[in-house]
Amino acid sequence: MDRDNILLTPGPLTTTLRTKLAMLKDWGSWDSDFNALTAKLRQQLLDIINDQGHYVVVPLQGSGTFSVEAAIATIVPKGGHLLVLDNGAYCKRMAKLSNMMGRKTTILSQIEQEPIDPDTVKAALQADPTITHVGFIHCETGTGIINPLVAISELCKAFNVGLIVDAMSSFGALPIDSQDVTFDALISASGKCLEGVPGMGFVFIRKAILAKCANNSHSLVLDLYDQHLYMERTGQWRFTPPTHVVAALAEAVQQFIEEGGQVARLARYTENCKMLLDGLSEQGLKPFLNPDYISPIIITFLAPTSPNYDFKTFYNDIKSQGFMLYPGKLTDIETFRIGCIGAIGSKEIRQVVDTIKYCMQKMKIN
Ligand SMILES: *Cc1c(COP(=O)(O)O)cnc(C)c1O
Repeated sequence: MDRDNILLTPGPLTTTLRTKLAMLKDWGSWDSDFNALTAKLRQQLLDIINDQGHYVVVPLQGSGTFSVEAAIATIVPKGGHLLVLDNGAYCKRMAKLSNMMGRKTTILSQIEQEPIDPDTVKAALQADPTITHVGFIHCETGTGIINPLVAISELCKAFNVGLIVDAMSSFGALPIDSQDVTFDALISASGKCLEGVPGMGFVFIRKAILAKCANNSHSLVLDLYDQHLYMERTGQWRFTPPTHVVAALAEAVQQFIEEGGQVARLARYTENCKMLLDGLSEQGLKPFLNPDYISPIIITFLAPTSPNYDFKTFYNDIKSQGFMLYPGKLTDIETFRIGCIGAIGSKEIRQVVDTIKYCMQKMKIN
């Protein structure tokens, strides 16, 4: 049948028909209609962090990582020193891209099973006064763990270092209020919890540091300072925008507002998460993380220990029933992941739990 599979993945994810239909129109990138669309979207994004005039938001073409790379390039000066707090794969990616652009980078690695420990970070900041910025992943999508944003923000304020937050997979679902947390930059993208399609990121930048960001970037296309300046002056994107992606995100944000914003989205994802944990624990499937640390974004499950289990077969079997899971991202332990995010609710989760049960029986896994 010509029906989309349900994506249980952390982006791209399942979108609504309304969001998909918003992509059926061609826009002129220089035209006033498209400029108005971009301007309205930027204001709505600022509203989501409850901005009171202290931040700007700069959209950027590309997948989420392009915006992480752009944020580091724009915010951390060439002589800066970034401390990356690491408890998973996306943290390691941030350190890698920072190193590659020649920024002095120190990686503070902790175990993947525990949230970032603020005391350890405090000790690292005390020990090395050359650190100018901290790089922090809010929800480490590799495992699904939530890291303590407010505590790290307080520490950075106390030590007078800048904070760069990768909030890619948490923004829109977990609370991020600019009255409670201070950051130099915070990054997310279209195809995550706002439930748009992939193709653009956006970076909130604190106005107070913006002027210092001129000429930091080694890269033309990743220069968010320049992108912002140009957008303020002309209302346009600097280079060809992903027009259909922008239109889809604008439509998705409209639905986000209609649903009840971040609070309603978190409630729906939390229910999805709970139903997955309850339903799959009946099948003997256990989460990798301590239940206290599991986010309603994505759950890492330990692979069944049965010799009959094979991820590829399991995945294909479940896909043949209309659902797409996500492979694990841990090096030593065999796992698979199931996303709680996207335009899915209790109906789809009940169906996927039944499907997993059916496929496990078929593969004789228990
Ligand atoms: C999705 C995601 C990214 C961006 O990944 P892309 O593949 O570039 O879209 C970055 N950080 C986190 C935590 C993510 O979940």
